[in-house]
Amino acid sequence: MKRLSPIDQVYLVIRFSIILVIWLALGLGRFSPGIPRLFVWLLPSIFTAYSAIFALSLGLLPRHHRSLYLIVLPFDLSCLTFAVYFTGGADSPFYLIYFIPAIIYALCFKSSLGIAVGLSSAVLFFLGSLRELPTSGWADLGVKTSLLVGMTILLAMITGTERTEREEIRRLNLVLSERSEELSRKVTELNAVSEMAIAIHSTLDIDALTKLTLNLLKKVLNLGACSLMMIEKKTGQILFSATEGLSKEEAKRAISEEIAESILSGGESKVADYEQLSFFRCIPLLHREDIVAALCVNSKALDDVSSDDVMILSAIASELAVAIENVRLYELTKKLSITDELTGLYNYRYLQQRLKNEFERAGRYVHPLSLIMIDVDDFKSYNDTYGHVQGDSVLAEVARIIKGGCRELDVVARYGGEEFAIILLETDSSGAFVVAEKVREAVAEHRFLGQDDRKDARLSVSLGIASYPVHAADLESLVKEADNALYRAKTGGRNRICKPGEEG
Ligand code: GH3
Ligand code: MG
Ligand code: MG
Repeated sequence: MKRLSPIDQVYLVIRFSIILVIWLALGLGRFSPGIPRLFVWLLPSIFTAYSAIFALSLGLLPRHHRSLYLIVLPFDLSCLTFAVYFTGGADSPFYLIYFIPAIIYALCFKSSLGIAVGLSSAVLFFLGSLRELPTSGWADLGVKTSLLVGMTILLAMITGTERTEREEIRRLNLVLSERSEELSRKVTELNAVSEMAIAIHSTLDIDALTKLTLNLLKKVLNLGACSLMMIEKKTGQILFSATEGLSKEEAKRAISEEIAESILSGGESKVADYEQLSFFRCIPLLHREDIVAALCVNSKALDDVSSDDVMILSAIASELAVAIENVRLYELTKKLSITDELTGLYNYRYLQQRLKNEFERAGRYVHPLSLIMIDVDDFKSYNDTYGHVQGDSVLAEVARIIKGGCRELDVVARYGGEEFAIILLETDSSGAFVVAEKVREAVAEHRFLGQDDRKDARLSVSLGIASYPVHAADLESLVKEADNALYRAKTGGRNRICKPGEEG
């Protein structure tokens, strides 16, 4: 049995108190004289019986059923009217009971029902009183009826106003809780973005950025499958991409040049032949002069992306764009710090560092390592003939030729001035000689820029080789041996290659 509401409890207490009083009065024979026999026992019995059924129904039904009140109302009013009718009409003590339904219905239902119940009570009371006119005449009946009507209307008005206010408070509460929910969602999202911004700017590693972005996509949006792309406008190059919920194959298709192109051209990208996803659609998140960022998702999921989500994603995209710029700047600075500006080869500083590292490694595993020192022959005279500016471009050309003669793995650097060096990993002195010869021959056969833009100037290089472990046991001697060999190549007549222990 469920717990009854306070109003149900009060209503039942009143109802059964009245029943008790009626039965007591009957027991004491108070109402018996002049009252028909049928009424004396039958009417209170009917009233008691349906009141009991009403009470049981209130307790047993799973929900609060207001309709029970409405079902019981006509019975109550009928019983009451008969009671009034048989117990002295306008003088009947039951008269006051009419107020109870009016109060209850005004409280529990709309004011209009309260008024309707009150007016019906007044009419029924009036009819019930017609059997026996009050001792004080029509005036008394009029006053009692008017009192019943007036009280009912007053009560309905008061409860009506109170109910309107209560409903307004409930509505305002609802709005307030919706707003506060929205606010706390926004705070969570903003926190996620600010966390993300801090994390994004704390790394200069693109892979770490990818992981971070994926985590955020998972956290902020519940999109299932999606991809994020950042594209450089000028080149169409995909600078950054992250995918979530896609297989390797799908991710490959989602992050494609074709989609990047279509995003750049402002159109909607569709990939119709996905196995699980019918197609993808992309929404632009960031449109900068240099960079475009777009989020691509299954188009059904895109319908669930709210404008708030797009705002959050746009904020992330802008942070990401700045972070990517930082990474690129950092990479550029790193590259510049190890690159020779004129030739694009590694610079002296880098050569020294690499030489040290590679020599240590070669020493650890006793692997061969060779160093070739190269010097352009009579370059002073080239400069004197064609000028320093032309000399610069020729130096860059020589650098390209040297690089062309080496493997990807070899480290080619500008040693300084018109001198170059090559570190040959895992290469012994005969292997180094092959490379040196290739370079020497290539330079000697090349025609450089001469007079009047003609490509007819000849140049040559001299090369000195030294190899670990055959020629030197430590790094210092390796450099020295290569340098000495180069010197001997010069003194031996130039355009040649020397090794330690060999004359040019
Ligand atoms: P060799 O090495 O055959 O003995 O003669 P060389 O004339 O090349 O030797 P030297 O050391 O006397 O002169 C090197 C010249 O290289 C001097 C300088 O003008 C030139 N040179 C060095 N660095 C640069 C550079 O960056 N640009 C240009 N244009 N010339 C350079
Ligand atoms: Mg020199
Ligand atoms: Mg020289």
